[in-house]
Amino acid sequence: MKISKYIKFITRSLGAQMYNASRPTVKENTGYCHCCRSDVVFKSNEGWLRDYYHCMQCHSIPRQRHLQHILDKFFPDWQTKKIHESSPSNNFISKYSGKNYSSSQFFNDVMPGQYADNTRCENLERLTFEDNTFDIIITQDVFEHIFNPDLAAKEIMRVLKPGGAHIFTAPKHKALQHSGPRASLTNGEIIHLKEEQYHGNPIGDGRSLVTWDYGDDFESQLNKWCGFSTVTYVTRDEYLGIDGEYLEVFVTRKI
Ligand SMILES: [Zn+2]
Repeated sequence: MKISKYIKFITRSLGAQMYNASRPTVKENTGYCHCCRSDVVFKSNEGWLRDYYHCMQCHSIPRQRHLQHILDKFFPDWQTKKIHESSPSNNFISKYSGKNYSSSQFFNDVMPGQYADNTRCENLERLTFEDNTFDIIITQDVFEHIFNPDLAAKEIMRVLKPGGAHIFTAPKHKALQHSGPRASLTNGEIIHLKEEQYHGNPIGDGRSLVTWDYGDDFESQLNKWCGFSTVTYVTRDEYLGIDGEYLEVFVTRKI
């Protein structure tokens, strides 16, 4: 399969899907889910585990369980920390966090820092928070939808406290050597540099344009953009329901 075709197929398939009980099960096992902190059954009725391998109790998918696992394992007191989550699509982080949790979404028509229906608007490329505000910032499959990830990476490090961490997921394409933009924003107009691709989005009109493809050099790019190193976690653990493609969890620490 040609690389471009492979990437197209993969990106079209990204996005959590509902478990379809009418289809035959292709994978099923018991284990422990870090999203609902319970002994559960994991099931998939598709071979594409990334979006179909569900916890039958909380309906989490592998990348969500992996991120939660990394938090629990390497940041054991994370619930007490000052956390900001950008564009959350679930409550797996917020339901365990204390009063120090906050979140935001990006709305085109709301001024960053202002609220729409009790939800704060923030643009990761120019955050309105002061320097050294948060211990942890979480983004889940957000970075591939940003026009200027260099600015976002820099801004996130600015608003993290020294020693703080950006913990995040984003699709990193194995067959792609160099990261690059798919679209840019010039004078408010979207310029498509490659064929348009969208991922499902629970907010807005239900879809998000993919603006960047990340490849082998993703961590090096992040380092150039923000000046700090990124550690990439790759886990395959059926007992934790972590199996499939595109499950990397990245941790960039401000140290
Ligand atoms: Zn669960």
